[in-house]
Amino acid sequence: MTVRRVGIVGCGQLAQMMAQEARPLGIEFSFLAEGGENTSCVEGLGTIVHAGDGDDADAASLYRAMGSPEVITAEREQVSVELLRALEKFCPVYPRPDAFGKTQHRLREKNAITAAGLPVAPFLPANNYGEICTAVEKLGYPAFIKSCENGYDGKNQWRVDSDASLEALRGQVPDDEYVVEKGIDFSREVSLIGARTADGQVVTYPLAENDHYRGTLLVSTAPAPDVGEALQKTAQDYLSTLMNAWDYVGVLAMECFVSDDGLLINELAPRVHNSGHWTLAGAKTSQFANHVRAILGMPLGDTDSERPAVMINMLGVDKKPTLANEGVWLYGKSLRPGRKMGHVILLDDSQRALAERTQAMLEALYGESGRPA
Ligand code: ADP
Ligand code: MG
Repeated sequence: MTVRRVGIVGCGQLAQMMAQEARPLGIEFSFLAEGGENTSCVEGLGTIVHAGDGDDADAASLYRAMGSPEVITAEREQVSVELLRALEKFCPVYPRPDAFGKTQHRLREKNAITAAGLPVAPFLPANNYGEICTAVEKLGYPAFIKSCENGYDGKNQWRVDSDASLEALRGQVPDDEYVVEKGIDFSREVSLIGARTADGQVVTYPLAENDHYRGTLLVSTAPAPDVGEALQKTAQDYLSTLMNAWDYVGVLAMECFVSDDGLLINELAPRVHNSGHWTLAGAKTSQFANHVRAILGMPLGDTDSERPAVMINMLGVDKKPTLANEGVWLYGKSLRPGRKMGHVILLDDSQRALAERTQAMLEALYGESGRPA
């Protein structure tokens, strides 16, 4: 078997799981660490290269140090698009740098989604507190104010539901680019993960239902319970429309609200996604394996779910729970409050049995409240 080399920008758990899942396919990996990032997740999984402090000029030597891979990808959204463009001179970079350019800026992202004819929550751009107030006045309460860049896990965003809470924000939001969004009264949040190859093969997974705690994903259930074929199909159509419009290559994750106005797209991630970790045990091919297959132009694997699955994030805890039958993934990171340390995947024949076991697992991980500290 000829060895195929893939370079990954980033050294966190997503890079770790890509390498673990794709190494059985005979693929070797190298990892590019930027800005002194911690590399403990990928130790032993391939060559680790440290990029100098933002010195993109020497992309050629970085590329060589990465072992001259056949294709380069990234495990995170916030990656320098200039660096990706510089590396693209040596091999394909998938997802394409343009996809990162769009998704790492909320306004560009929303404009790209609406340009593809797909629905998002009503929104307005704003550049300072005064414009935020004008936008909130037009959209009404509740509203979400999100900075265009560097938002994740509920960070850099604020919910306002009254004049008083809007007033309290004065002085807290420096002049910057924001989107102000109408608060959606959703019945639930779901996400769809799909993969596309350069020659246009597309696969999608069953929708997952996501429960967040303080802005961070805590539990994903897949397939999302009681999702009719129509909702699954709508979500698939949205995602394939986006992937085809962008000539997208790799895994793309789409978070949505299920609302009275139908399915609205909340945000996209140009990478494997936390709400797809259940696929490691619950689908015939994991999102990680399919991402690597997609960027290498290999036939994509079957995405069917074998049994209903639940993924529970281990936030700020790294003790293996002692309940029977669980699959536990620990990423090998040092413990910090709220940090994603690992996850548990439960499988069962019925969603009802799963729901009971999920509650028990949450209590085993977090104590009586079943919620992270
Ligand atoms: P992040 O990048 O931090 O995940 P999101 O835009 O996904 O940012 O927002 C985080 C969470 O905040 C969402 O999962 C949802 O629960 C809530 N939220 C965000 N925007 C809205 C909205 N317009 N209406 C209702 N809830 C929202
Ligand atoms: Mg989100």
